[in-house]
Amino acid sequence: MPHTFCLHPRWIIPIEPLGLVLENHAIAIEDGAIKAILTQQQARERFPHVEHQVLHKHAVLPGFVNAHGHSAMSLLRGIADDLTLMDWLQNHIWPAEKRHVSDMFVFDGTQQAMVEMLLGGTTTINDMYFHHEAVARAGLSATMRTVIGCSILEFPTPFAANAAEYIEKALAAESQFRGEALLRFTLAPHAPYTVSDDTFKRVQILAEQLDCKIHCHIHETAFEVEESLKQHGNRPLARLNHLGLLSERLIAAHGVHLLPEEIASLAHAGASVAHNPSSNLKLASGIAPIHALRQAGVNVGIGTDSAASNNKLDMLAETRLSALLPKVQAQSAEAIPAAEALRMATLGGAKAIGLDHLIGSIEVGKRADLIAIDLSNPETQPCFHPISQIVYAADRQHVTDVWVDGEMVIQGRQFRTLDIHEIRLKTEWWYQKIMDASSKA
Ligand SMILES: [Zn+2]
Repeated sequence: MPHTFCLHPRWIIPIEPLGLVLENHAIAIEDGAIKAILTQQQARERFPHVEHQVLHKHAVLPGFVNAHGHSAMSLLRGIADDLTLMDWLQNHIWPAEKRHVSDMFVFDGTQQAMVEMLLGGTTTINDMYFHHEAVARAGLSATMRTVIGCSILEFPTPFAANAAEYIEKALAAESQFRGEALLRFTLAPHAPYTVSDDTFKRVQILAEQLDCKIHCHIHETAFEVEESLKQHGNRPLARLNHLGLLSERLIAAHGVHLLPEEIASLAHAGASVAHNPSSNLKLASGIAPIHALRQAGVNVGIGTDSAASNNKLDMLAETRLSALLPKVQAQSAEAIPAAEALRMATLGGAKAIGLDHLIGSIEVGKRADLIAIDLSNPETQPCFHPISQIVYAADRQHVTDVWVDGEMVIQGRQFRTLDIHEIRLKTEWWYQKIMDASSKA
């Protein structure tokens, strides 16, 4: 017998077509897939013997796709703030990672991040980190769709000694988790300033062979661009293009400092940009030209980056910024309307990671990664336009229910998959360990 149930929210925001809001409709879900979208009366007639969940104060929409993050770094949230990217990385984050990062750190930190993300309506994370098995186990334990980005760098960390070993571990992870419905895999050369030409070339060949995406920090800061000009005689994107990496496989995290011809080349290649507005603001990296990218036809997803540089894994907050910042930048209040920002946070991210055939919108045949947002709170009343209400007024605490692959993960803000008390204790343990180590350093 198939497992079927119906959701009857006040509003459905399917994302596709852009701006559509269905009122008093229902979604029928069968074995984790969206089977039908119909009126509430039709749903009761067609599916008389299944559970019908009424959400009369809610909007149901696809779960957010966090297009760029480093989940395990949640354990380093607030360890060093108000610093430039290079100072932050070289003097604080990399030394702390060298001291602490292990399988256990990554599993515990990723679970901690997933609690926060799922409670805020994020159902998919495009992650980039080390200890891939731990990331995979955390994703499966939380029932969160997880794209495991296998970091590749030239320099040693406790995880691997050199680029060859990072790649070896990436390939092992890819074969280990192939076929897991909730897991996907990307090769993640960290950034142009940490990866050599030879390694980039190898990554490109492997991505072709494995048919996977390439997830890379790119054009995040002006410093990165200047250094590339000094060391390689060209800008990072030109270098990647020369090495064969500028293609529809590329998920360019950040893309803050882009010339008009670089925006055109991203569009021509069919590459995606993962936009991380809070992280870019906090590290003073700049504001990515999202309006220009979208006008050129570049697919844009929205990400949080890590809790060490944001410091919230809050996709609603990032979506709001993704609608607000382009207006100032383009000096036009019409730049990136609310519906467009919400599409970037869902379908845009899904397309970036190559899962737009499965998730990112509410369409028959897609997997049921869905969230319900209660719009009856004082902060979101009255509700003339549910989409703009969600983007401009709703808060992540208004997300009440979350389904991933048709499975109810959160009901009435209560987890059905994870023991959040146990996770809180583990985070407290890590806090003590990191504090003790830093006082000895
Ligand atoms: Zn990042």
